[in-house]
Amino acid sequence: MAEPVELPSRIGILPFRNKVLLPGAIIRIRCTSPSSVKLVEQELWQREEKGLIGILPVRDAAETLSVGSMLTQGTDLGSSKNQTGLSDSHKLDGKSQQEPIHWHTRGVAARALHLSRGVEKPSGRVTYTVVLEGLCRFSVLELSTKGTYSTARISPLDMTKAEMERVEQDPDFIALSRQFKVTAMELISVLEQKQKTGGRTKVLLETVPLHKLADIFVASFEISFEEQLSMLDAVDVKVRLLKATELVDRHLQSIRVAEKITKKVEGQLSKSQKEYLLRQQMRAIKEELGDNDDEDDDVAGLERKMQSAGMPPNVWKHAQRELRRLKKMQPQQPGYNSSRVYLELLADLPWQTSSEEVEMDLKAAKERLDSDHYGLEKVKQRIIEYLAVRKLKPDARGPVLCFVGPPGVGKTSLASSIAAALGRKFVRISLGGVKDEADIRGHRRTYIGSMPGRLIDGLKKVAVCNPVMLLDEIDKTGSDVRGDPASALLEVLDPEQNKTFNDHYLNVPYDLSKVIFVATANRAQPIPPPLLDRMEVIELPGYTPEEKLRIAMRHLIPRVLDQHGLNSEYLKVPEAIVKVIIERYTREAGVRNLERNLAALARAAAVRVAEQEQDRDRDGVALNKDVQQISSPLLESRLAEGGGVEMEVIPMAMGVNNHEISSAFRRVIMSPLIVDDEMLEKVLGPPKYDDKETAERVSTPGVCVGLVWTSFGGEVQFVEATSMVGKGDLHLTGQLGDVIKESAQIALTWVRARAAELNLGCAQGEGNLLEGRDIHIHFPAGAVPKDGPSAGVTLVTSLVSLFSRRRVRSDTAMTGEITLRGLVLPVGGIKDKVLAAHRNGLKRVILPERNLKDLVEVPPAVLASMEILLAKRMEDVLEHAFEGGCPWRQHSKL
Ligand code: ADP
Repeated sequence: MAEPVELPSRIGILPFRNKVLLPGAIIRIRCTSPSSVKLVEQELWQREEKGLIGILPVRDAAETLSVGSMLTQGTDLGSSKNQTGLSDSHKLDGKSQQEPIHWHTRGVAARALHLSRGVEKPSGRVTYTVVLEGLCRFSVLELSTKGTYSTARISPLDMTKAEMERVEQDPDFIALSRQFKVTAMELISVLEQKQKTGGRTKVLLETVPLHKLADIFVASFEISFEEQLSMLDAVDVKVRLLKATELVDRHLQSIRVAEKITKKVEGQLSKSQKEYLLRQQMRAIKEELGDNDDEDDDVAGLERKMQSAGMPPNVWKHAQRELRRLKKMQPQQPGYNSSRVYLELLADLPWQTSSEEVEMDLKAAKERLDSDHYGLEKVKQRIIEYLAVRKLKPDARGPVLCFVGPPGVGKTSLASSIAAALGRKFVRISLGGVKDEADIRGHRRTYIGSMPGRLIDGLKKVAVCNPVMLLDEIDKTGSDVRGDPASALLEVLDPEQNKTFNDHYLNVPYDLSKVIFVATANRAQPIPPPLLDRMEVIELPGYTPEEKLRIAMRHLIPRVLDQHGLNSEYLKVPEAIVKVIIERYTREAGVRNLERNLAALARAAAVRVAEQEQDRDRDGVALNKDVQQISSPLLESRLAEGGGVEMEVIPMAMGVNNHEISSAFRRVIMSPLIVDDEMLEKVLGPPKYDDKETAERVSTPGVCVGLVWTSFGGEVQFVEATSMVGKGDLHLTGQLGDVIKESAQIALTWVRARAAELNLGCAQGEGNLLEGRDIHIHFPAGAVPKDGPSAGVTLVTSLVSLFSRRRVRSDTAMTGEITLRGLVLPVGGIKDKVLAAHRNGLKRVILPERNLKDLVEVPPAVLASMEILLAKRMEDVLEHAFEGGCPWRQHSKL
């Protein structure tokens, strides 16, 4: 390469279309067209000595013509005989035959490094494959296209040795050379690093003159035709070095950028490839285990489920969008799971599924209500009315029934009876303690761990869109910073709005209008008025002991026995015992504790029955073991062997199962267990309440029995007042609210104002009742918060008792609000309060006169056993509360 090339003055020309062969570059071409074959044959193949050909770039006519150094030849040049075929890729196409061809004015002389001749079969056409090496630049002086191939008269462009030596002294050249060398070096090391080749290329830098190396370097890059041409035109070595440096540098940069990108992509690729591999392995393991919950199948399954969910069109569209998103995600991607869970919910929700509403039989419904619940006539009547309206007009927007009453009075079981009567499913949603609106409406899906609200959740569980939904303890919802659940409930209960109930999590409207809502509450008062306005309150006051007894005998005992796998053959609870449980072990408005105590007895009985069975087994008496193998005669003899027992032959006929046989056996062998006082005390412990309690507590002056109303129904509330040396202060304890504290102030003021009249304190000759004394009033059960105005009369009575040092009657309880002037105002919950007094063994109840009308609610049996005393003024209360009448009367009598 280094030796000087002797260029002939005329040279055969091989045109290169849109391509340049630079000196030093090596290229392999295949010649197939007649002209190129001829050229190679004559100039290279047939020559003894090594021939040269000139490679001249030609530009497509379609390419821009702005490059000045191009020769444009007329159509004669483009005639078919002048067409110069190159390798197939460089062939001039048919189109350009008519178009002018632009020959570049500078070319490169090339020699063949390798030549091979081939004959195509069957046409017999000769082709040549040539490996050419570019040698040196020349300039075309004159181009002739007359022969089979073009020839040109040329002159060399490369510098002579002397010229070259001169240039090498040029400081510019030296600087440029150095620059080029540095850049080239850099490129080489980058490439070597990449390809891990040895330092072969570096040797080139030392041995080949730089201006030649410039060509070689550039020839090896993929650069545009224009750039190749300008490199060819860079005859001046300084220009050439500059150009080459620029190109090498650019190439270097592009390699670096590409490397950076590859590195990035490679990192990602290897990660996802790793995941893919692991997943494949997991799939294989699962297949091996026969565990076919494949993700793809899962998503397909989900899609099928969604399709059959019967979503409304707008929801369906929304769900589809979400599903598409899910399909694009990898299961490990964040958000995949939440998206899935969400779609599962959409697919599971009962959009259309409903329980078939059976033709309602009002008579059957009434029978059912009666058989499930004792008493409650008014309530049952109202439920029947409600059902009747629904029967006549199924889509009627009736009011929402709200059962209000203490715990254990049957609110929940009434609601479930409604569902049974309508043939609908029943779902209970507990609202007790719900303070967050999100509990009703759900959290938006943007929150981590977001969930749908309780309503949607409940609907998903029952899987029908028309259940009877019990909103339990609706009075126990509260509001705080997290929103107001009551306002969300308003929307739920409003027939206008609940067609498009918006759960934040669900984010698509859900139609709640088919749901029948029933609510329960312990008290109506805490329910926000707008909510209460949408409901019809049905009060269920507590039961009297007689009612409880009936409920226990008819409903609770059979149910409890059944729940424990027993029946009356094993355990009998006599009425007298139930009465004791009601009076001594429970003091409640409802029957929940009663049921609990009965269940405790049933458990104890179950243990005993099981033990007895074991004993008998051990004694050799056949019980239910291998019963099936015992045929009737054998059975007879065995029973006879058992001795002393009545014989009953059990036919081993079809349809008589093991269970029946074994229970028949037991029936014969065992006598029922009857609960007596001893067993009662053993199981339930000593009695919790007795009648003497009140009498004992009221045995000192200053103590008085009031009646209050709590969420557990009516209760007896003691009030204790005492005085000690002090500065005339009033101390109040027992977790009291503001209203009750004010009542205490009013009571004290009233008593002080009437002190002389009542002859209080005068006994001691004191003008001021509080002179040198502090008063302390305490409401026992100190841990239970208390509030309300109805303790007014009780407070006054206990103060009068304290100051007069006279005991209040221990059989008397009272309730009523007082005014400053001593009027007694009516209060609420009269029935519950009277029942509570009755429960606690009190015989007399003092009530505000204006509460007379409320007494109709009190069961007659209770009224008959109690003395009800009505009071208009405080004086009336005092008159009734003390033995022998009001203290002041006594004094005035004197
Ligand atoms: P609530 O919802 O009012 O707190 P439940 O409905 O849970 O009370 O009733 C508690 C238990 O008492 C249930 O087993 C219920 O069947 C029973 N019960 C309550 N009242 C009656 C009644 N009048 N007749 C029969 N069982 C009753």
